[in-house]
Amino acid sequence: MSLLIKNGTIVTASDIYRGDVFVESDTVTTIGTNLSMSADKTIDASGRYVIPGGIDCHTHLDMPFGGTMSADDFESGTIAAAFGGTTTIIDFAIQYRGQTLHHAWDTWMKKAEGKAAIDYGFHMIITELTDQVETEMDALVQQGVTSFKLFMAYPGVFMLDDASIFRAMLRTGQNGGTICMHAENGGVIDVLVQKALAEGKTAPKYHALTRPARAEGEATHRAIALAEIAEVPVYIVHLSAAEALEMVTEARDRGLPAYAETCPQYLFLSYDNYEEPGFEGAKYVMSPPLRPKETQDRLWRGLAFNDLQAISTDHCPFCMKEQKVLGKGDFSKIPNGAPGIETRMSLVFDGGVRQGRISLNRWVELTAASPARIFGLFPRKGTIAPGSDADIVIFNPGKSTTLSAKTLHMKVDYNPYEGRNVTGVSEIVISRGKVIVENGKFVGRAGSGVFLKRSPRS
Ligand SMILES: [Zn+2]
Repeated sequence: MSLLIKNGTIVTASDIYRGDVFVESDTVTTIGTNLSMSADKTIDASGRYVIPGGIDCHTHLDMPFGGTMSADDFESGTIAAAFGGTTTIIDFAIQYRGQTLHHAWDTWMKKAEGKAAIDYGFHMIITELTDQVETEMDALVQQGVTSFKLFMAYPGVFMLDDASIFRAMLRTGQNGGTICMHAENGGVIDVLVQKALAEGKTAPKYHALTRPARAEGEATHRAIALAEIAEVPVYIVHLSAAEALEMVTEARDRGLPAYAETCPQYLFLSYDNYEEPGFEGAKYVMSPPLRPKETQDRLWRGLAFNDLQAISTDHCPFCMKEQKVLGKGDFSKIPNGAPGIETRMSLVFDGGVRQGRISLNRWVELTAASPARIFGLFPRKGTIAPGSDADIVIFNPGKSTTLSAKTLHMKVDYNPYEGRNVTGVSEIVISRGKVIVENGKFVGRAGSGVFLKRSPRS
């Protein structure tokens, strides 16, 4: 199979130019102007951007949480991702206490096999750090699972103490792995949650009111301080608070290898959503919670000035019916998470590039190139270059669409951006040389995605 993409405007993290892209089998082989080789399929990309497929380095497909499962499995979730212009995800495998990391990895590999329609890798969530687990971390890095997520929140479920966090960090200093941190002070939050419930405060908004921005700022500061002592990089996941961004900015100004991602929900939604009538606020129950509207400008500034390096989704959908409703009468029982895997590229283009907050190159960098670099996938993924995987999106910057749960493909009964109009749509999506979305239809195959063995830090 060969594919020729003609007349488009090729956009990577560093370049913008008119050109043609020739793909043989699953790889980009030639880029030039007026390419004339014959191909099995030719795509006319006139008036379109030709961009590397999006990389969403934070998703939770088929994940157990709070007695239920996230609503998208690896089939529906990756197909939705493809519709939205994302061709690679990095999901999270979870080690539960008493289990080995390899058991967790096997479990998640089985969830993805035969289902994933795009390529995927895994971060490993460590909830118990024993000597044996430390040894396994080394093996996993060699096997392509090169990042480990640790929690400073959810005591008794996911949370690790500082000593374990520090040990894991020291280990990555030797094995080339990367620590990803959920940075919220779980102890403080638990006390506030119990206090609120005792006072009869049970509505969804109390989810946000018991997770103060300063609790995220404190944990972010601590995570960076521990990494500084261990002399390793650290990557803060789903940064939402200005108080946390300040900590990352301060550390980076001192030259420390501190990195962070934010997510579209923190750029486009705010605490005000929790004040929606009735139980509607449950749609936005996620951790960290949505912050005051003023925070959005701070985050955009962080993205523009490279204090934030990536935009992921933390896609973790739960239906209002039967799932979110578990927390009616007790906000602490609302499953944490929201859908986003399908809407990221358009939202960030519309609200970022079109509004003049970030450049076209920066958009590609934040949604593809930078996550690929940080997580050991570059230059196989995250760019369009000879030798790179042909994961390519033909993006129409002039086409508008209205976001709605009715037309999106995520398997969840609401959308946090319902009714929002966005301009900029992924029209044709190519995964390793094969067209998987075209004319509004999924034409790929569940199970065609492959596991990505990622490289350790060099
Ligand atoms: Zn997450």
